[in-house]
Amino acid sequence: EIVLAVDGLGKTYPNGTEAVKGVSFDLRRGEIHAIVGENGAGKSTVMKMLYGLEQPTTGRIAVAGQQVRLTTPQDAIDLHIGLVHQHMMLLESLSVAENIALGAEPVRGPFLDRAKMNREVAEVAATYGMNIDPAATVARLAVGQKQRIEILKVLYKGARILLLDEPTAVLTPQETRDLFKAIRGLTELGMTVVFITHKLVEVKEVADRVTVMRDGQVTGRVEPRDVTVAK
Ligand code: ADP
Ligand code: ADP
Repeated sequence: EIVLAVDGLGKTYPNGTEAVKGVSFDLRRGEIHAIVGENGAGKSTVMKMLYGLEQPTTGRIAVAGQQVRLTTPQDAIDLHIGLVHQHMMLLESLSVAENIALGAEPVRGPFLDRAKMNREVAEVAATYGMNIDPAATVARLAVGQKQRIEILKVLYKGARILLLDEPTAVLTPQETRDLFKAIRGLTELGMTVVFITHKLVEVKEVADRVTVMRDGQVTGRVEPRDVTVAK
Protein backbone atom coordinates (compact mmCIF):
# COMPACT_ATOMS: atom_id res chain seq x y z
CA GLU A 1 0.00 0.00 0.00
CA ILE A 2 1.48 3.32 -1.11
CA VAL A 3 0.69 6.01 1.46
CA LEU A 4 2.51 8.85 -0.25
CA ALA A 5 3.88 9.32 -3.74
CA VAL A 6 6.04 12.06 -5.13
CA ASP A 7 6.14 12.41 -8.90
CA GLY A 8 8.50 14.67 -10.82
CA LEU A 9 8.87 17.03 -7.89
CA GLY A 10 10.99 20.10 -8.50
CA LYS A 11 11.89 23.24 -6.57
CA THR A 12 13.64 26.33 -7.81
CA TYR A 13 14.15 28.90 -5.05
CA PRO A 14 13.47 32.58 -5.79
CA ASN A 15 17.24 33.20 -6.09
CA GLY A 16 17.37 30.72 -8.98
CA THR A 17 18.86 27.75 -7.14
CA GLU A 18 17.45 24.52 -8.57
CA ALA A 19 17.43 22.59 -5.32
CA VAL A 20 15.22 19.67 -6.46
CA LYS A 21 14.82 18.47 -10.06
CA GLY A 22 12.25 15.89 -11.05
CA VAL A 23 12.32 13.72 -7.95
CA SER A 24 10.00 10.71 -7.74
CA PHE A 25 9.64 8.10 -5.01
CA ASP A 26 6.93 6.50 -2.95
CA LEU A 27 6.43 5.56 0.66
CA ARG A 28 4.87 2.23 1.52
CA ARG A 29 2.83 1.81 4.63
CA GLY A 30 4.89 0.53 7.53
CA GLU A 31 8.30 1.06 5.98
CA ILE A 32 11.33 3.00 7.12
CA HIS A 33 12.49 4.88 4.04
CA ALA A 34 15.81 6.70 4.02
CA ILE A 35 16.68 9.58 1.73
CA VAL A 36 20.43 9.72 1.68
CA GLY A 37 22.74 12.24 0.08
CA GLU A 38 25.49 14.73 0.74
CA ASN A 39 24.92 18.27 1.94
CA GLY A 40 23.20 20.31 -0.72
CA ALA A 41 21.62 17.28 -2.43
CA GLY A 42 18.12 18.70 -1.89
CA LYS A 43 16.93 16.39 0.91
CA SER A 44 15.71 19.15 3.24
CA THR A 45 13.91 20.87 0.40
CA VAL A 46 12.01 17.65 -0.35
CA MET A 47 11.05 17.33 3.32
CA LYS A 48 9.90 20.94 3.44
CA MET A 49 7.67 20.39 0.43
CA LEU A 50 6.16 17.31 2.07
CA TYR A 51 5.34 19.42 5.13
CA GLY A 52 3.96 22.47 3.33
CA LEU A 53 6.94 24.67 4.22
CA GLU A 54 7.99 25.15 0.60
CA GLN A 55 5.87 25.00 -2.53
CA PRO A 56 7.01 22.78 -5.41
CA THR A 57 7.80 24.50 -8.69
CA THR A 58 6.89 21.34 -10.61
CA GLY A 59 5.50 17.90 -9.94
CA ARG A 60 2.86 16.28 -7.80
CA ILE A 61 2.40 14.87 -4.32
CA ALA A 62 -0.29 12.28 -3.68
CA VAL A 63 -1.42 11.02 -0.29
CA ALA A 64 -3.38 7.75 -0.25
CA GLY A 65 -3.76 8.00 -4.01
CA GLN A 66 -5.20 11.54 -4.02
CA GLN A 67 -3.23 14.45 -5.38
CA VAL A 68 -2.81 17.05 -2.63
CA ARG A 69 -1.70 20.64 -2.21
CA LEU A 70 0.40 21.25 0.87
CA THR A 71 0.34 25.00 1.25
CA THR A 72 1.03 25.18 4.99
CA PRO A 73 2.12 22.74 7.72
CA GLN A 74 -1.53 22.59 8.79
CA ASP A 75 -2.41 21.03 5.43
CA ALA A 76 0.19 18.34 6.08
CA ILE A 77 -1.03 17.77 9.65
CA ASP A 78 -4.59 17.42 8.34
CA LEU A 79 -3.32 14.62 6.09
CA HIS A 80 -1.63 12.92 9.07
CA ILE A 81 1.86 13.95 8.05
CA GLY A 82 4.17 15.04 10.87
CA LEU A 83 7.63 16.61 10.87
CA VAL A 84 10.22 15.95 13.56
CA HIS A 85 12.84 18.67 13.45
CA GLN A 86 16.55 18.24 13.61
CA HIS A 87 16.67 21.06 16.09
CA MET A 88 14.58 20.32 19.11
CA MET A 89 11.61 22.64 19.15
CA LEU A 90 10.50 21.90 22.73
CA LEU A 91 9.90 24.53 25.39
CA GLU A 92 12.53 23.65 27.95
CA SER A 93 10.88 25.09 31.04
CA LEU A 94 7.61 23.24 30.52
CA SER A 95 6.78 19.63 31.30
CA VAL A 96 6.69 16.83 28.79
CA ALA A 97 2.89 16.72 28.85
CA GLU A 98 2.59 20.50 28.51
CA ASN A 99 4.80 20.48 25.44
CA ILE A 100 2.79 17.71 23.85
CA ALA A 101 -0.59 19.19 24.72
CA LEU A 102 0.43 22.65 23.53
CA GLY A 103 1.61 21.27 20.21
CA ALA A 104 -1.73 19.53 19.74
CA GLU A 105 -3.95 22.47 20.68
CA PRO A 106 -4.87 23.35 17.11
CA VAL A 107 -5.98 19.74 16.62
CA ARG A 108 -7.30 18.68 20.01
CA GLY A 109 -8.20 21.96 21.69
CA PRO A 110 -6.80 23.41 24.93
CA PHE A 111 -6.17 21.31 28.01
CA LEU A 112 -7.74 22.63 31.18
CA ASP A 113 -7.15 19.82 33.63
CA ARG A 114 -3.48 19.06 34.34
CA ALA A 115 -4.02 15.65 35.92
CA LYS A 116 -6.14 14.58 32.98
CA MET A 117 -3.56 15.95 30.55
CA ASN A 118 -0.74 14.00 32.24
CA ARG A 119 -2.80 10.83 32.26
CA GLU A 120 -3.77 11.14 28.63
CA VAL A 121 -0.24 11.89 27.44
CA ALA A 122 1.13 8.92 29.38
CA GLU A 123 -1.55 6.70 27.87
CA VAL A 124 -0.80 7.78 24.33
CA ALA A 125 2.92 7.31 24.97
CA ALA A 126 2.26 3.79 26.22
CA THR A 127 0.30 2.86 23.11
CA TYR A 128 3.42 3.77 21.12
CA GLY A 129 5.67 1.76 23.39
CA MET A 130 7.21 4.83 25.00
CA ASN A 131 7.70 4.96 28.70
CA ILE A 132 7.68 8.63 29.69
CA ASP A 133 7.11 10.73 32.78
CA PRO A 134 4.55 13.34 31.66
CA ALA A 135 5.38 15.65 34.57
CA ALA A 136 9.15 15.74 33.94
CA THR A 137 10.60 19.13 32.98
CA VAL A 138 11.97 18.98 29.45
CA ALA A 139 15.19 20.81 30.41
CA ARG A 140 16.15 17.84 32.59
CA LEU A 141 15.92 15.27 29.81
CA ALA A 142 18.79 13.85 27.78
CA VAL A 143 18.81 14.75 24.11
CA GLY A 144 17.62 11.29 23.02
CA GLN A 145 14.64 11.53 25.36
CA LYS A 146 13.81 14.99 24.08
CA GLN A 147 13.70 13.64 20.60
CA ARG A 148 11.35 10.87 21.70
CA ILE A 149 9.09 13.60 23.09
CA GLU A 150 9.26 15.42 19.74
CA ILE A 151 8.14 12.25 18.00
CA LEU A 152 5.36 11.72 20.52
CA LYS A 153 4.24 15.32 20.02
CA VAL A 154 3.82 14.66 16.32
CA LEU A 155 2.03 11.35 16.92
CA TYR A 156 -0.28 13.03 19.39
CA LYS A 157 -1.35 15.42 16.63
CA GLY A 158 -2.43 12.38 14.65
CA ALA A 159 0.55 11.81 12.36
CA ARG A 160 0.78 8.48 10.57
CA ILE A 161 3.56 9.48 8.19
CA LEU A 162 6.58 10.75 10.09
CA LEU A 163 9.19 12.92 8.41
CA LEU A 164 12.44 12.91 10.37
CA ASP A 165 14.96 15.62 9.53
CA GLU A 166 18.50 14.28 10.20
CA PRO A 167 17.22 12.55 13.33
CA THR A 168 20.58 11.23 14.48
CA ALA A 169 22.61 14.40 13.94
CA VAL A 170 22.91 15.20 17.63
CA LEU A 171 22.58 11.71 19.12
CA THR A 172 25.18 9.42 20.68
CA PRO A 173 25.54 5.93 19.17
CA GLN A 174 23.45 4.45 21.99
CA GLU A 175 20.75 7.11 21.55
CA THR A 176 20.79 6.38 17.83
CA ARG A 177 20.19 2.66 18.45
CA ASP A 178 17.36 3.49 20.86
CA LEU A 179 15.80 5.84 18.32
CA PHE A 180 15.89 3.23 15.58
CA LYS A 181 14.34 0.66 17.92
CA ALA A 182 11.57 3.13 18.74
CA ILE A 183 10.81 3.95 15.12
CA ARG A 184 10.84 0.26 14.18
CA GLY A 185 8.21 -0.23 16.88
CA LEU A 186 6.15 2.57 15.34
CA THR A 187 6.23 1.03 11.89
CA GLU A 188 5.01 -2.22 13.40
CA LEU A 189 1.98 -0.21 14.55
CA GLY A 190 1.37 0.92 10.96
CA MET A 191 3.28 4.20 10.93
CA THR A 192 5.42 5.07 7.93
CA VAL A 193 8.76 6.75 8.54
CA VAL A 194 10.94 8.69 6.13
CA PHE A 195 14.19 10.17 7.34
CA ILE A 196 17.00 12.09 5.71
CA THR A 197 20.63 11.47 6.48
CA HIS A 198 24.11 11.72 5.03
CA LYS A 199 25.33 8.73 7.05
CA LEU A 200 25.28 5.59 4.91
CA VAL A 201 25.97 3.28 7.82
CA GLU A 202 22.64 4.21 9.40
CA VAL A 203 20.79 3.48 6.24
CA LYS A 204 22.23 0.01 6.13
CA GLU A 205 21.25 -0.66 9.72
CA VAL A 206 17.70 0.60 9.79
CA ALA A 207 16.12 1.43 6.44
CA ASP A 208 13.80 -0.88 4.53
CA ARG A 209 14.35 1.14 1.36
CA VAL A 210 16.73 3.86 0.33
CA THR A 211 16.43 6.72 -2.14
CA VAL A 212 19.76 8.29 -3.01
CA MET A 213 19.88 11.98 -3.99
CA ARG A 214 22.62 14.01 -5.58
CA ASP A 215 22.47 17.55 -7.02
CA GLY A 216 18.70 17.67 -6.64
CA GLN A 217 18.03 14.39 -8.40
CA VAL A 218 17.39 10.79 -7.46
CA THR A 219 20.46 8.89 -8.56
CA GLY A 220 19.60 5.51 -7.16
CA ARG A 221 17.25 3.29 -5.25
CA VAL A 222 18.94 0.58 -3.31
CA GLU A 223 18.13 -2.15 -0.88
CA PRO A 224 19.93 -1.52 2.40
CA ARG A 225 21.74 -4.87 2.19
CA ASP A 226 23.40 -3.64 -1.01
CA VAL A 227 24.80 -0.53 0.62
CA THR A 228 28.53 -0.83 1.07
CA VAL A 229 30.13 1.31 3.70
CA ALA A 230 33.81 2.21 3.38
CA LYS A 231 35.68 1.33 6.54
P1 ADP B 1 20.29 18.98 1.79
O1 ADP B 1 19.18 18.90 2.78
O2 ADP B 1 20.47 17.71 1.00
O3 ADP B 1 21.57 19.45 2.41
P2 ADP B 1 18.96 21.36 0.78
O4 ADP B 1 17.60 20.99 0.34
O5 ADP B 1 19.12 22.00 2.12
O6 ADP B 1 19.90 20.06 0.68
O7 ADP B 1 19.63 22.31 -0.28
C1 ADP B 1 19.66 22.02 -1.70
C2 ADP B 1 20.20 23.24 -2.41
O8 ADP B 1 19.27 24.31 -2.29
C3 ADP B 1 21.53 23.76 -1.87
O9 ADP B 1 22.26 24.25 -2.94
C4 ADP B 1 21.08 24.87 -0.95
O10 ADP B 1 22.09 25.83 -0.81
C5 ADP B 1 19.88 25.44 -1.68
N1 ADP B 1 18.88 26.06 -0.78
C6 ADP B 1 18.30 25.54 0.30
N2 ADP B 1 17.41 26.39 0.84
C7 ADP B 1 17.42 27.48 0.06
C8 ADP B 1 16.72 28.73 0.07
N3 ADP B 1 15.81 29.01 1.02
N4 ADP B 1 16.99 29.62 -0.89
C9 ADP B 1 17.90 29.34 -1.85
N5 ADP B 1 18.60 28.20 -1.93
C10 ADP B 1 18.36 27.28 -0.99
P1 ADP C 1 17.38 23.47 8.90
O1 ADP C 1 17.28 23.90 7.46
O2 ADP C 1 18.60 23.99 9.61
O3 ADP C 1 17.18 21.98 9.08
P2 ADP C 1 14.66 23.74 9.89
O4 ADP C 1 14.29 22.64 8.93
O5 ADP C 1 14.48 23.52 11.33
O6 ADP C 1 16.17 24.20 9.65
O7 ADP C 1 13.84 25.04 9.49
C1 ADP C 1 13.95 25.56 8.21
C2 ADP C 1 13.05 26.80 8.08
O8 ADP C 1 11.67 26.42 8.16
C3 ADP C 1 13.29 27.83 9.15
O9 ADP C 1 13.31 29.11 8.53
C4 ADP C 1 12.12 27.69 10.09
O10 ADP C 1 11.78 28.92 10.67
C5 ADP C 1 11.02 27.21 9.15
N1 ADP C 1 10.06 26.34 9.87
C6 ADP C 1 10.36 25.22 10.53
N2 ADP C 1 9.25 24.68 11.05
C7 ADP C 1 8.23 25.47 10.72
C8 ADP C 1 6.82 25.42 10.96
N3 ADP C 1 6.26 24.42 11.65
N4 ADP C 1 6.05 26.41 10.47
C9 ADP C 1 6.61 27.39 9.76
N5 ADP C 1 7.94 27.49 9.48
C10 ADP C 1 8.74 26.55 9.96
